[in-house]
Amino acid sequence: PPRRATAKFATAAEALRTVFGYDSFRGEQAAIIDQVIGGGDAVVLMPTGGGKSLCYQIPSLVREGTGIVISPLIALMQDQVDALTAVGVRAAFLNSSQDSAERSRVERDYLAGNLDLLYVAPERLSSEATKRFLERGTIALFAIDEAHCVSQWGHDFRPDYLALSELAGRWPDVPRIALTATATDATHQELTQRLQLEGARHFVASFDRPNIQYRIVAKAEPRKQLLSFIKTEHPHDAGIVYALSRKSVEATAEFLRANGLNALPYHAGLDQAVRARNQSRFLREEAVIIVATIAFGMGIDKPDVRFVAHIDLPKSVEGYYQETGRAGRDGLPSTGWLAYGLQDVVQQRRMIDESPGDLAHRRKLSAHLDAMLALCETVHCRRVNLLRYFGQASEPCGNCDTCLEPPVGWDGTVPAQKLLSTIVRLLRERNQRFGAGQIVDILRGKTTPRTTQHHHEQLATWGIGADLSDQQWRGVVRQLLAQGILATSGEYGTLVLTPIATEVLAGHRTVELRSEPERAARSTSSAR
Ligand code: ADP
Ligand code: ZN
Repeated sequence: PPRRATAKFATAAEALRTVFGYDSFRGEQAAIIDQVIGGGDAVVLMPTGGGKSLCYQIPSLVREGTGIVISPLIALMQDQVDALTAVGVRAAFLNSSQDSAERSRVERDYLAGNLDLLYVAPERLSSEATKRFLERGTIALFAIDEAHCVSQWGHDFRPDYLALSELAGRWPDVPRIALTATATDATHQELTQRLQLEGARHFVASFDRPNIQYRIVAKAEPRKQLLSFIKTEHPHDAGIVYALSRKSVEATAEFLRANGLNALPYHAGLDQAVRARNQSRFLREEAVIIVATIAFGMGIDKPDVRFVAHIDLPKSVEGYYQETGRAGRDGLPSTGWLAYGLQDVVQQRRMIDESPGDLAHRRKLSAHLDAMLALCETVHCRRVNLLRYFGQASEPCGNCDTCLEPPVGWDGTVPAQKLLSTIVRLLRERNQRFGAGQIVDILRGKTTPRTTQHHHEQLATWGIGADLSDQQWRGVVRQLLAQGILATSGEYGTLVLTPIATEVLAGHRTVELRSEPERAARSTSSAR
């Protein structure tokens, strides 16, 4: 029976048992909770599923007053409050979705000391009125969820979070706990400084999610590859598929449905009611697959998501880690699967070139993309690469594609030189620039209306790359782009050389490539 919601708990252990029904704390939960109950500040870096919520919920049930939880996930506040209310916790939220009667009721409860937890959207805290209002009640603690959002260097910056830097000055005696599931060293430092948590204790859990198998395949026919992956490995499982555009979300969901899977679309362009319905079916029914833009999934607590698939390249390693992290929160074997190809690199570089904002902003986006590409192209353990990105050392895992089927590295210097000199000749002799398709056709000596029109068969490099297949050449271009030897320019993604390319052409630098054509061929041929 729900407890009579009046008294606080004497100890954390009692609250854990009585309210949540658990016998023991996990990992560093007990130490974190002690720190906050004792009135100290804490910075908590813990992967998804690690149990961050209890770290501020329990101190709120023990300390006098109301725990104020700042969370960007307005859509989920209702669910979180419902779940807490169901176990007898006095919880409420304040956000823009409420009418004024509801808001007044919550405000009265807060001022009367009748709330254990109050969820507040970050933009509310930038208003002076809200701060004055909060001052009139008793605050047990501030919990800043998704604290990486305060970092301008991070992948998910939210300007509203900057206002949270004022909490320390205004409420010097109220403990603050900042929590996140994705933070590189740089982001960790930045959030500590911006939130004025220099005096806090830091709790950094391992970011490893050993039950998630990471796999990255060369993209050929993404929908077919995806279908084959799901049908072979997860035919009766719930999963999330991420795509970059709404159009691709719709088309992919339809394709999967046409092939007998229970797939539903989710993106910001859909009607609110449709989105809510699809999300709730995903949470409540068995084996539903959500095909979504990144708008989906933050804060969704579904323990048995068995796979997360990306059919387009994520923009950052943080994003990739966060999205794949939604798989396997229950600790059971799960898969993070990504299909990635030449077009992804071309498209994302172009998006960065065209993005609004200053040079520093574009540099940041480029650095994020480069780290993601390095993860895709590595010949070493994916997990080692991923954890190193978050500043954690580890050993090869035995549970990622490169550990299970080590890719063969090969010396790609000569093919790279053939490709680069074709681009140079086109520019010098003809003043022409082309995208990957035309360059590969020239190298392979493949006559098309376009090669004929431009008399490209007269070029000295015509057909000098006939030893490699179309697919192999596209792999070479993709890797040269990823390694910064080639770049793209303009709306059509024409290929241009970088300063490193000059070294390669001059023979001062070798090019190491990973070979994966058989891998791609295998996954396509099994996609019947
Ligand atoms: P996070 O916010 O870090 O992703 P949650 O706080 O949602 O993680 O916790 C993940 C799951 O683990 C939840 O279902 C939660 O109830 C459960 N959990 C958390 N702490 C414990 C514990 N000490 N014992 C058992 N289960 C726990
Ligand atoms: Zn590995």
